[in-house]
Amino acid sequence: YAVEPSIELDNLTFKYPGTKAEVLKNITLKVGKGETLAIVGKTGSGKTTLVNLLLKLYNVDDGKIKLGGNDINRIPVKKLRSMMGYVPQDNFLFSKTVKYNVGFGHEDITDEEVKHFTQIAQIYDEIMSFPKGFDTELGERGVNMSGGQKQRVSIARALAKKPEIIILDDSLSAVDTKTEESILSHLKESLKDTTSILIAHRISTIKHANQIIVLEDGEIAERGTHDALVAMGGLYADMYKKQLLEEKLSES
Ligand code: ADP
Repeated sequence: YAVEPSIELDNLTFKYPGTKAEVLKNITLKVGKGETLAIVGKTGSGKTTLVNLLLKLYNVDDGKIKLGGNDINRIPVKKLRSMMGYVPQDNFLFSKTVKYNVGFGHEDITDEEVKHFTQIAQIYDEIMSFPKGFDTELGERGVNMSGGQKQRVSIARALAKKPEIIILDDSLSAVDTKTEESILSHLKESLKDTTSILIAHRISTIKHANQIIVLEDGEIAERGTHDALVAMGGLYADMYKKQLLEEKLSES
């Protein structure tokens, strides 16, 4: 394997505790350090479950998941959480300052760092247009951000952790495609050693992933690069065609 493996799944099968259905089946996967894995698939195909397992929200058997070469069961939860920058779909901001929201968990964050990470997340200019810049209060007693602005602040927060692995779970759904593409490419440039997992609905934004997997009913139905998957003419190619058509229709 060319680069040091960052994430390895070995024939992982998973049922939620107390249920019978296998929601992930025989998932085998390697993601190299600094690489990007994109996961696509219909609602209910198991994308979030896979992320839940990487975040250690549920237990798996020994030998099934390794992070940085170590079995996930040997990594203390606290250490694991510090390795991971996770941006959930429904991100949460505190009714406190921008700086607090970006630095959450790192009270010693400097203005320089807040600037750097908000620039990567492409929210810096908008923050600077607020009355008190980084010290602007958000929420009920302050500025009410749009959904897309909140998402970008959440990304800046995940970046500020300097994580080994960053997971974006459809985290840019409220920004337009161009901005999403631009944020993801800046992210890639500034986080060369950070492994990224993107759960994405817009295929246009994951074209450059090193590896794309298509989940269907908990199984990897297809895997490869964007070009390879399009050439294969299967599920991914169908999704892509459909999205291109939708884009055309919405433009006209
Ligand atoms: P996706 O993220 O692709 O929409 P999920 O990982 O959320 O898919 O869901 C995969 C399957 O697991 C679905 O059938 C869903 O109903 C089931 N599931 C999700 N969360 C739970 C849970 N906490 N307990 C039991 N089943 C769950």
